[in-house]
Amino acid sequence: TPPSGAQRPRLTFLGTGYLGATYAVCYAELGYEVIGFDVDQDKIAKLSDGQVPFHEPGLDELLRKNLASGRLRFSTSYEETAEFGDVHFICVGTPQRAGGLGADLSYIESAVTGIAPFLNRKALIVGKSTVPVGTATWVEELVAKSAPESSEIEVAWSPEFLQEGFAVEDVLRPNRIVVGVKSEWADAMLYAAHKGVFDLAATEDREVPVVTTDFATAELVKVAANAFLATKISFINAMAEVCEVSGADVTHLARAIGHDPRIGNKFLQAGLGFGGGCLPKDIRAFQARAQELGAGEALRFLHEVDLINLRRRTRVVTLAAELLGRPAGPAGPNLTGLKVAVLGATFKANTDDIRDAPSLAVAAMLNKTGARVVVFDPQGMDNARKALPDVEYADTLTAAVTDADLVCVLTEWAEFRNADPATLGELAASRKVIDGKNCLDAGQWRAAGWDYRGMGRP
Ligand code: NAD
Repeated sequence: TPPSGAQRPRLTFLGTGYLGATYAVCYAELGYEVIGFDVDQDKIAKLSDGQVPFHEPGLDELLRKNLASGRLRFSTSYEETAEFGDVHFICVGTPQRAGGLGADLSYIESAVTGIAPFLNRKALIVGKSTVPVGTATWVEELVAKSAPESSEIEVAWSPEFLQEGFAVEDVLRPNRIVVGVKSEWADAMLYAAHKGVFDLAATEDREVPVVTTDFATAELVKVAANAFLATKISFINAMAEVCEVSGADVTHLARAIGHDPRIGNKFLQAGLGFGGGCLPKDIRAFQARAQELGAGEALRFLHEVDLINLRRRTRVVTLAAELLGRPAGPAGPNLTGLKVAVLGATFKANTDDIRDAPSLAVAAMLNKTGARVVVFDPQGMDNARKALPDVEYADTLTAAVTDADLVCVLTEWAEFRNADPATLGELAASRKVIDGKNCLDAGQWRAAGWDYRGMGRP
């Protein structure tokens, strides 16, 4: 039972990036009164004006609908946000620290010490960002130091599992909710803060599993889940490496082992490996934290998972040199005078997120070989231009492919999967294609005269 006065707690989300903005919008949609807070004034101005500052399918519509409903607003004022909210969710970034593997917690620190001095009644601070185990306890200490003595602030942790590209659905219909709490009050408050999700599930005859646990376990659940997913991808990519030297086909192998329900066929696609703003930095921060705690050996395999993953990027460059008849010398391959079309800049389809994108990393490596690299992406162009200014960008798929000596498909956008290889063949200087995501119909491309190479396939 929720505590009195908390039937519908007022919610705030600190940090309106991919995670926080989606939450603010979706929880307003579920009927809560919400403030989304950020220190980035441009982001807040855009959101207040009904524009999502990034690409996430379905979010624009819901943003505009809920701004109009009056349940949702955005702010850059800690004071306003503190006064408004009963439950404050911390959704700020926790990137890899410059010069180390560990997580940079400075944004968590600034958000907590920014809001705490203005919290003058009982309220709950809930961490959602992905953090090293032990962070929630540190946040409690920060709050004790920076909140007014009279305020009764409690801390809880509720890690987040949404996937970009499916974020709206994942937030409205999560496959589980994990809460790390220390008191019945915090537990009840969090129940009330999620009741909209439970009510929606009930109307659809579903249940949302809830795991209630301690701080440390809640923090670990997230990094453990990401470590498992990264390991699964690197496992199949390691098999791809073996397939490449033995003439086997990793796509058949994955299908065959995936029929065993103990293994399962999800997240078993060999290709260019994982990237994005989560998996790479999370497995690194997890290793760094385990090391600090004296359990470094337990996670040594994650270093190997990371290496397997990064080797896939080099593999594309080697394959490109082979296909173009310019095998690497001691200084690496020299592709001067050749045009390479790189299709895809985002780390996966249906997002504009280019953080640690394997596709852009490969584009940068190809650029170093002297090739003229021309990148096209349906949504990621603005971000890519900023992150990798020294390659060329084409406005359309056809402009990228025109006169190319090699086409590399490095993000699995539907626009690339559905492209007609015969039409593209007319435009390219030479029909050579690397399918870095194993997402094309190899038979169809070969039938249209392309020399097709996948990852881990003969
Ligand atoms: P992001 O970089 O898109 O957003 C972070 C936001 O925090 C930015 O808008 C930034 O301006 C803001 N910020 C920085 N300092 C602030 C402060 N003091 N107060 C308020 N806002 C501040 O990052 P993201 O992808 O949304 O990720 C946020 C966290 O969620 C990370 O820990 C990430 O690992 C985790 N996470 C992300 C996803 C995902 O798919 N993106 C999924 C699960 C978990």
